[in-house]
Amino acid sequence: RTMSVPTTMKAVVVEQTGGPEVLQYKTSYPVPTPQEGQLLVRNNISGVNFIDTYFRTGLYSSPKPEVLGREGAGTVAAVGPNTSGFQVGDRVAWLANGGYAEYTAVPAAKTVKIPEGISDEDVMASFLSGMTVLSFVKETYPVQKGDWVLLHAAAGGAGFLMTQILKSIGAKVIGTAGGAEKCAIVKDLGADVVIDYRSEEGKDWVKLVKEATGGRGVDVVYDSVGKDTWEGSLEAVKRKGTIVWFGNASGPVPPIPLPKLSPKCVKIARPTLFGYIETREEFEYYTNELFTRLKSGELKVKIHKVYPLEQIAQVHTDLEGRKTMGKPLVKP
Ligand code: NDP
Repeated sequence: RTMSVPTTMKAVVVEQTGGPEVLQYKTSYPVPTPQEGQLLVRNNISGVNFIDTYFRTGLYSSPKPEVLGREGAGTVAAVGPNTSGFQVGDRVAWLANGGYAEYTAVPAAKTVKIPEGISDEDVMASFLSGMTVLSFVKETYPVQKGDWVLLHAAAGGAGFLMTQILKSIGAKVIGTAGGAEKCAIVKDLGADVVIDYRSEEGKDWVKLVKEATGGRGVDVVYDSVGKDTWEGSLEAVKRKGTIVWFGNASGPVPPIPLPKLSPKCVKIARPTLFGYIETREEFEYYTNELFTRLKSGELKVKIHKVYPLEQIAQVHTDLEGRKTMGKPLVKP
């Protein structure tokens, strides 16, 4: 099977780091040629993740010029030399680089066929975010039934999914979120305690967490907010508890003097999804775990909004401005 592929496409390119204004929308950017081990995917929809903003600002470094975007779903348009397992026309999702474009050349090793009955949109609302959540609750800290868990930004792209996964394990969830609307969403997902950490009362969320846990503190904190919450997270965790720091929505966690961990024998972790899905076996394990939950309806997704690709700067502004609930997507 063949598909006709144009030589140029719409894409968003970053030449130098900076604010959302460095995201340049181009209408005749060259379509990449798939190399050995790669597939050319015509993206139907791409995910926008907070990590994209880190590569845009330079908090995380990457070679520029760069087409940002770490995931996409669409159709295989061409297969690179010596590349097996996929055919032109296959409906796939991928995790790599370059999703803010109509076409992306991606490693076949990080591409998976989307099962019948699951939409591209549902996969993009949960692919990078969902696998992050699944690997962090299974491997970084194996969450047990009955554990008290504090989850920050519980209405976000990853948070919306994590709240559900934690409840399905039988954990007791304390979710924080900014504003009444976000808090209502977290409550609807079954969180046991919801704290609006931007409200007057919720500002003292450490005290509220202590109260909810009978003064003990939580077994584990999942903290992707970073700079603004790390100290509180350290206070809110129980003796012998664990803190999983996994993001920088408010800025990075500063270097912590290790003796700070001693009084309560606290364990800390700073994982990344990519470290859990390096091999094909690991990647397939988590894609299967995700697809099973999507197909059964056990995991619900929330799409904040599907933006046209030319509005990508607005998506970044909305994400960084804490205006999104669930996952923002872009349509190339
Ligand atoms: P979200 O949709 O969760 O957006 C970030 C949220 O963080 C905001 O909506 C906001 O929620 C909260 N927040 C708190 N303080 C700030 C601030 N100062 N500026 C902006 N937002 C703030 O994004 P994602 O789902 O894409 O990612 C969530 C987090 O998880 C990110 O930190 C990301 O880097 C991390 N992550 C890490 C991975 C890894 O492998 N380590 C993989 C995937 C995600 P509210 O208004 O409720 O406070």
